[in-house]
Amino acid sequence: MLLISCPYCGPRAETEFRNGGEAGIVRPTRSAEMSDGEWANYVFTRTNPKGRFHERWCHVQGCGRWFTAVRDTVSDDFEGFHKVGEPVPENGR
Ligand SMILES: [Zn+2]
Repeated sequence: MLLISCPYCGPRAETEFRNGGEAGIVRPTRSAEMSDGEWANYVFTRTNPKGRFHERWCHVQGCGRWFTAVRDTVSDDFEGFHKVGEPVPENGR
């Protein structure tokens, strides 16, 4: 079982969290002007890298807040946890 450190509550079991996918996805401001292909790309296309990955998590069975985690998708090791709005250093810590 993974241990995830909510930046608001501290370490908890992974069963208390929901993964929200890739972090840093920004909704387009002019979506009405986008083609169907551009919109589909925004909605469905993600980088899905092998290795370090910035992703969103929600502490659904705790404080209910979203935060950003840096996780290695190969080893499942977490490098850091960051509150929304906090800068996430490139090294992830
Ligand atoms: Zn929490």
